[in-house]
Amino acid sequence: MKKHFFFLPILIFMLNINFSVQAQNTDNPFSREWKTPFQTPPFNEIKKEHYLPAFEEGINLQNTEFAVIINNQDKTTFENTITAIEKSGQLLTKVTKVFSSLNGTDNDDEMQMIAEKSTSMLSKHIDDFYLNEKLFQRIKTIYDEKEKLNLTTEQSRVLENYYLDFVRGGANLDDKGKEKLRKINEELSHLILRFGDNVRKENNKFELIVESEDDLAGLPDASIQAAKEKAEAKGFAGKWLFTIDKPTLIPFLQFSEKRDLRERMYRTYMNRGNNNDELDNKKIFSRIVVLRVEKANLLGFNTYSDFVLQKKMAKTPDNVYSFLTDIWKPTVKKSISEAEEMQKIIDTEEGDFNLQPWDWWYYAEKVKKEKYALDEEMLRPYFKIENVIEGVFAVSSKLWGLQFVLRDDIQVYNPEVKVFEVKEADGKHIGILYTDYFPRAGKTNGAWCGDFRGQSNIDGKYITPLVTNVGNFSKPTSDVPALISLDEVRTLFHEFGHALHVLFQNVTYPSAGSVPSDFVELPSQIMENWAMKPEVLKMYAKHYKTGEPIPDELIRKIDNSKYFNQGFETLEYIAASLLDMDWHVITETTEKDVAQFEKELIKKMGLIPQIWPRYLTTNFIHIATWGYESGYYSYLWSAVLDSDAFESFMENGLFDKSTADSFRENILSKGGSEEPMELYVKFKGRKPTVDALLAKRGLN
Ligand SMILES: [Zn+2]
Repeated sequence: MKKHFFFLPILIFMLNINFSVQAQNTDNPFSREWKTPFQTPPFNEIKKEHYLPAFEEGINLQNTEFAVIINNQDKTTFENTITAIEKSGQLLTKVTKVFSSLNGTDNDDEMQMIAEKSTSMLSKHIDDFYLNEKLFQRIKTIYDEKEKLNLTTEQSRVLENYYLDFVRGGANLDDKGKEKLRKINEELSHLILRFGDNVRKENNKFELIVESEDDLAGLPDASIQAAKEKAEAKGFAGKWLFTIDKPTLIPFLQFSEKRDLRERMYRTYMNRGNNNDELDNKKIFSRIVVLRVEKANLLGFNTYSDFVLQKKMAKTPDNVYSFLTDIWKPTVKKSISEAEEMQKIIDTEEGDFNLQPWDWWYYAEKVKKEKYALDEEMLRPYFKIENVIEGVFAVSSKLWGLQFVLRDDIQVYNPEVKVFEVKEADGKHIGILYTDYFPRAGKTNGAWCGDFRGQSNIDGKYITPLVTNVGNFSKPTSDVPALISLDEVRTLFHEFGHALHVLFQNVTYPSAGSVPSDFVELPSQIMENWAMKPEVLKMYAKHYKTGEPIPDELIRKIDNSKYFNQGFETLEYIAASLLDMDWHVITETTEKDVAQFEKELIKKMGLIPQIWPRYLTTNFIHIATWGYESGYYSYLWSAVLDSDAFESFMENGLFDKSTADSFRENILSKGGSEEPMELYVKFKGRKPTVDALLAKRGLN
């Protein structure tokens, strides 16, 4: 998924406002108080050589702060334990946030080296924290008497999170249990690394070398040119080289007229890690599953899915299954009709074959041209990036009265970065937004939202946030400004939604800003809805040369195409989500035959033969390596929430003030300070239903 929300949930607790141990090294800008406007990072002074010493000093300082907490002889209280932890680690938080942000935007060998060293320092530091028995005993003492303490909702949740994180790390186990958990974790970490490594090697291994121009039939010039350059670089001058990374694979599947080559590319892609060779992931994955069951059981859970979902909005496997099933049935129906439409084209062209998974993209492209006549290149002139930014600012201004003031006096980490001060309608300062929208050497792919400082309000000291929005959008050239694609417009609105979530946050404790992964995409995905509404497009989509607003004809085409291929996209996603869930509700601790398990499951779910799950087990890196196990459903869960929530704006008015205020108050300002479902119900008046999502995707 290209739209990521980068934040550091584990480290968020380390923000400090009023720290008791003073930093010593005044040569290092991280050790000094920042006297810049709004205490923004002094990027002109920060040099690469400052990072590692600051990490080291930050860790030492926080350890000293932890020691003070543990050695406090007074009665254990929320204040002298939880609040004290929340206040600790100011220097470490500062350097971690600045470094991880710049590591994503301006990477080079030196940054890479610092990243490796600091990651291992930090992971040891975090392990030490969760293994600190004295700290846990204090937290447990408070947790056990929490009913008597008159805590606020936010305090209860902060306390519960600490307690659960320790317990989930094994703090309540006896010595034998702890030893067993340590062994499981160790074996898991090796297997997970090997799994990811095998997928990476598989991605790089396959090369389709095309020798004859005939085999390039249908491919766009850009793909052909890229393949030619790749071939040259590998010593195959005069030929064309295609690989199975997604930016190469998808255009190939969409446009290549060579059905046999499409099949080869697609099968190779889907079979990564499943070739019975040294890169095979079947045994590795089945062992991972067994270890996860053992871990869950040891920690008192029936299945690994129960363990994971304890800290998510969805809460239980049943809840996940029931929402996936609700969407599954209408989606199958829609997918069948999409497949029939494509089969008709095949038959008209006298193709004499049945549509197969590797044909889908190719014929979907034909349907798109025939039915919707949407040429994305015709839209670009209306999406000059400056106009789109004006658009998202205007939407937030109409919804919440926000003002955005360009600030040239705030230091930036790269000359391409722009800085805006965000203010309330009455001029009150809310926070700072850094935008960094174009690709450059050293920047990670994709788009994300991050921050240099989160919001908090301990001891009445209100700390305002410093947020970043980063992208890799189409760049300006010497004679044409940056004209971005429809998809990039959506992404810009999406990341801006994450930024609003950070900017509007109004909690006391820094760690209360941490939001479960199945809730975090609600504020971002909901913003995408405004981007494509005709009256909003009229506001910002203006021709970059003439200033003319986008014609109704083009708006109609955008609107018509919104149901395009939605059956397929939803179905391949749910199939992968069900695969993920089924692997993690297993209760037996015997290793499964991966191929057999997968085959039975696909049969059981009733997937149509023209569509395969988006990932198959042996290359499903999200659930093996990236921490999305029993969590791949999250994106669709958030999509249900954003569609259901946006429906209120459709009913009450796109810019209805009381709906906007309620959304800000109940969702955007609360961070993770309350149970997400309760927050949602406060806004909507009921739990979410899938109806709005089905309608939005044309699945009803
Ligand atoms: Zn996102």
